[in-house]
Amino acid sequence: MTTPHGGDVRLAGLSKTYGSFTAVHPLDLAVPRGSFFALLGASGCGKTTTLRMIAGLEEPSSGSVLLGDRDVTALPAYKRPVNTVFQSYALFPHLDVFENVAFGLRRRGIRAVRKQVADMLDLVQLGDRAHRKPHQLSGGQQQRVALARALINRPEVLLLDEPLGALDLKLRRQMQRELKRIQTDVGITFIHVTHDQEEAMTMADTVAVMHAGRVEQQGAPAGLYENPRTAYVAGFLGTSNLIEATVGGRSGDGIVVTAGGHRLLLPAVRCAADAPPGGTVLAGVRPEKISLTHADDAVQVPEERNRITGVIADTGFIGVSTQYAVDSPGCGALEVYVQNLDRDTRLVPGADVVLHWDPQHTFGLDAAPGHGAERSDVALDDVAAERSAAGRAAAGKSAT
Ligand code: ATP
Repeated sequence: MTTPHGGDVRLAGLSKTYGSFTAVHPLDLAVPRGSFFALLGASGCGKTTTLRMIAGLEEPSSGSVLLGDRDVTALPAYKRPVNTVFQSYALFPHLDVFENVAFGLRRRGIRAVRKQVADMLDLVQLGDRAHRKPHQLSGGQQQRVALARALINRPEVLLLDEPLGALDLKLRRQMQRELKRIQTDVGITFIHVTHDQEEAMTMADTVAVMHAGRVEQQGAPAGLYENPRTAYVAGFLGTSNLIEATVGGRSGDGIVVTAGGHRLLLPAVRCAADAPPGGTVLAGVRPEKISLTHADDAVQVPEERNRITGVIADTGFIGVSTQYAVDSPGCGALEVYVQNLDRDTRLVPGADVVLHWDPQHTFGLDAAPGHGAERSDVALDDVAAERSAAGRAAAGKSAT
């Protein structure tokens, strides 16, 4: 199905304050036409407020919303070529699926709706449920009706506010694939708000990570994951080991840093911090990039790898991998995920180990206050607390 659709969504200095509280700091954002864009962040970071300002459901305190070249800031919600799908499906309970989907067309006085509704129901794979009432459908099916009901209006932009939040995990994963397929089919710009990093990363072309009313970083999921620019992003998208290190000097394209007496190489292009000699940076590495070797075999670790020594504090077998918590003097508590291929039975709590990785997998972050983290463990505790608050908020919403 091809749909005529307009241009980019652009936000220019868009902000929202409630009294003395700033929910969204002046925000500049461009969402490319036809893309799947996710606003990702913990509960209360301002993502729903941003979405509601795009929809016209919330008046901005400053700034403007542009759709293509058109400034729609002053337009009421119903005059914007934008539709919103909420977590609560808000279907009409007394109407069957067909009539729920046909609603927008009928309201515009269109009488011949059969073909369009049938096409839309096929798109969301509910052609055989057309005459059921909403209460006769599963949560996932109801969500798909809500989607069809919004898409039939051919909006230029579809806004999705935690649309999968009320679904159980399995259905959620299934619907994520469905949503992505539908978006690719219709080619409409989707802006999706979620606190679930996996959801954002699986579906979106671009993810913008929001924190305390600001977008900290945006980019393609893999790029964000591999090259986080702040400690917050590093901790919110997956898990990161952040090691406080002292800058030595340069070595070719790399920056030499030391932590706990270990010399580590950090590619200059992957360092988001100023790194003057003698300064402090956070050297980051993802747990799955690290290999774990028993100290007895340390000589086998290739010379060019970054390496840190430590003692295994804890292990957790989770099927596809084993997660190790390692204490390393001077580098703190580190996490390592090892795929379960040939398990080394010596890797048990108390074992002396060498953690080593390709220096290319090291990223550098600003360790200064105001740049996401004063200390890595503080930043990550903060993220963990926000994540669990986001989870609790979602659970609370699901229950309503
Ligand atoms: P969640 O995932 O929990 O929905 P969110 O990131 O979407 O969170 P928003 O709903 O955008 O967050 O809220 C951002 C901040 O603005 C929150 O701290 C919230 O308490 C505050 N806020 C939202 N609406 C109002 C309001 N009408 N009056 C005062 N504060 C508000």
